[in-house]
Amino acid sequence: MRRKRRVAILGSTGSIGVQALEIIQRSESLELHSILCGSGIRLLREQILEYGPSTACAVAPLDGADTTGILTGPESLEEAIQGADIVLNAIVGSAGLSASLLCQELGLPLALANKESLVVGGELLGEHLARGLIVPVDSEHSTIHRCIHGEDRPVLGVTLTASGGSVRNMDPAAMYAAGPPEILAHPTWSMGRRITVDSATMVNKAFEVIEAKWLFGVPVDAVIHPQSIVHSFVRLADGAWKALLGHPDMRVPIQYALLEAGEPAIVLEEDGPLDWGSLCFEPLDPLVYPAYGLVAAAGEEGGTLPAVANAADEVAIEAFLSGRITFGRISQVIAHALEGHSRWEVRSFEDVMEADAEGRRAAAEMIGTPC
Ligand code: NDP
Ligand code: MG
Repeated sequence: MRRKRRVAILGSTGSIGVQALEIIQRSESLELHSILCGSGIRLLREQILEYGPSTACAVAPLDGADTTGILTGPESLEEAIQGADIVLNAIVGSAGLSASLLCQELGLPLALANKESLVVGGELLGEHLARGLIVPVDSEHSTIHRCIHGEDRPVLGVTLTASGGSVRNMDPAAMYAAGPPEILAHPTWSMGRRITVDSATMVNKAFEVIEAKWLFGVPVDAVIHPQSIVHSFVRLADGAWKALLGHPDMRVPIQYALLEAGEPAIVLEEDGPLDWGSLCFEPLDPLVYPAYGLVAAAGEEGGTLPAVANAADEVAIEAFLSGRITFGRISQVIAHALEGHSRWEVRSFEDVMEADAEGRRAAAEMIGTPC
């Protein structure tokens, strides 16, 4: 019998990480190799007891936390990856880039949830992309990957679907003043806090446009689809459109990225077309989502601009979640950081980190807190 594939889960204590643990536990083809988190030692400990990984790591445990039996510090990342057959990168933010680069260096297959790796450092991951060693976990990109795979007609472009997030039906004044309770109530997907806020500003969709550019190299646009049943479209040269449909459930793309063709999949939701009701599609209104245009334009210009946009967004979201700024200010913080930045090309990890630091400084300056 074939040996089970050993999976390293980076970001195991997050929304994607927890769902991946369930998939691995239920799969006949996968086994857990290692888990890694940022600082969430309590949940990590529970995961060690429940899933018994060979290695458990915490990159930045809080001072005084009991780390017995846990490898700590940034260098523990390498320990988590060593000996794995495949790595799921489900770290949030630009902090995930170094893990993706390490997978490339070691030639390890990468199931990529951390879209920020491609947003801030797509230029640096070309070798891994060219070798076909990156399979996206993001639901839209997983859909496109599946629709393109084995398709012999040329692909003219892809259209990403966006739920519209929690602000879709809010009036502009209420949206500007909105706080975390309103924004974190996502209508269709249950996700980590950052991506839920990014779905409301539509920064997430702009990131996904950039991610799709690196993954598929074809023209990309986006439409609003409030039901989140159609997980994106591929437009073919013969006039046909392909799409993947289903109840919104991240376990579907997670298992697609981890399992090989022909391996038994875990059956998840059993609902179908009669449960889905009407499906509708609307244009994405740039006045409702100013951050979408800003970040998508930064992606088109490329270089260090996406890294600056991401860094400013990370800082702005932290300020928003801790009640220091309202929802409407997030896009203004990103705009401020982008305006003050003189773009350069991304040729190295250091290029990204320098731009990241500049974006964080500019965002913190506008929010009015020290870096
Ligand atoms: P969460 O915030 O729920 O989880 C993030 C994980 O990353 C946690 O395990 C956290 O550990 C860990 N982490 C944070 N900082 C670091 C660090 N510096 N080094 C190592 N680990 C760190 O995020 P999600 O699961 O929602 O998202 C993860 C990624 O997947 C993001 O890039 C997101 O855009 C993408 N994604 C998520 C989707 C979803 O449905 N959630 C859908 C599509 C894409 P700790 O808790 O200990 O800090
Ligand atoms: Mg997505």
